[in-house]
Amino acid sequence: MTLPLLLLDVDGPLNPYAAPKTRRPEGYDTHRLLPTWWADRQARYSGARAKPLRVWLNPAYGPELLGLPYELVWATGWMGEANTHIGPNLGLPELPYIQWTDLFGEDPDGLHWKTRDVVAWADGRPFVWVDDELGPQDTAWIAAHHPAPALTFHVNPRIGLLAADFVALREWAVAA
Ligand SMILES: [Mg+2]
Repeated sequence: MTLPLLLLDVDGPLNPYAAPKTRRPEGYDTHRLLPTWWADRQARYSGARAKPLRVWLNPAYGPELLGLPYELVWATGWMGEANTHIGPNLGLPELPYIQWTDLFGEDPDGLHWKTRDVVAWADGRPFVWVDDELGPQDTAWIAAHHPAPALTFHVNPRIGLLAADFVALREWAVAA
């Protein structure tokens, strides 16, 4: 039996970056990381020497994710750097990742810049896409262009994934 794909965004679902600065959510550790995409972005906008990015990660979430009946895939702007910077801090092994056609780009039809690549990458397999930036237009486009079950799973970036979300993800995979 082939498992459904769990396409994982980092910033938002795993790193609740939008929580108030002084209120790191319970269970999370603070990491200061300097991935290439962040250094490039800062160089482009400020020209200054890149400062590391503060990333909050909950080390219990790696085992939680590995325990779900899915094949895990990084679907994040971190791309391959999720494997070097994020996965090890969560206890995750190296995972496949989606290489974006147009990182942080603008879609002509107002879709998220990941949406078309997500559907192409999934290639007809059932998937759940966990992300904090999804909109109804992405859900509708996926429903029209992806022939298998798919769930767009929106996570509030002030909160990140919660225990109840892991329960919901498990239930979806069992029903799919
Ligand atoms: Mg995000």
